[in-house]
Amino acid sequence: LENDVRAAALGAHRVLAPEAEVLVFVGLGTGVAAGVVIDGRPHRGAHGLAGEIGHVVIDPDGEPCGCGAQGCLETVISGSAVRRRWGVEVAAAGHALVAAAAAGDTRAQGILDDVVAHLDLMVQWLAHTYGADVIVLGGGLGRLGDPLLVPLRHRLRERAGRSDVAARVVGPERVWCAPAEIPLGAVGAAAVADAPIRPIEGAAIRLARRPEGRDGLPASIKT
Ligand SMILES: [Zn+2]
Repeated sequence: LENDVRAAALGAHRVLAPEAEVLVFVGLGTGVAAGVVIDGRPHRGAHGLAGEIGHVVIDPDGEPCGCGAQGCLETVISGSAVRRRWGVEVAAAGHALVAAAAAGDTRAQGILDDVVAHLDLMVQWLAHTYGADVIVLGGGLGRLGDPLLVPLRHRLRERAGRSDVAARVVGPERVWCAPAEIPLGAVGAAAVADAPIRPIEGAAIRLARRPEGRDGLPASIKT
């Protein structure tokens, strides 16, 4: 049995990018974790912890993390981190933060900018470490679409314009937000169980009928 994020990564590979050699799905929910699919198979690593990037320390003097360490990535870019840093008790922290920032709340904008800056770092690590050719952001925060993708892609594009190395790794247009209407985890779990692929076909049809979305997926996937 696969963990949730690996199942979602498999589902994303099946539905969104079956041609991808290396696909990384990042769940940005209560915590942060990545699922890696290499040549169509989930990559677990020697300790079964491959992709557990939420507990990579990015700031040794940062906030205490539930794991016992300090300044883990998920103390900055998870849904719970947004809630804690913003100090506002809301159900869908990401959507509330985006709405507040759009309404001119400078503190909300600052937190959003910081989330994007750390996503930028994370995408670079994943692109370089795994040689990812597709990176899909999922979970509550990952499904925000444009408010995350536009500034994130801008940063990636800008760096690619300055750095030959950056220009050769995953392109900004290959960083997507997971489409909210497709249960990637269930699709991936079905793929693991080698279940009939009917749900996948259904998902692909729903995706094809959808008008141009805000998730950054290329039009070719939708047709
Ligand atoms: Zn931690």
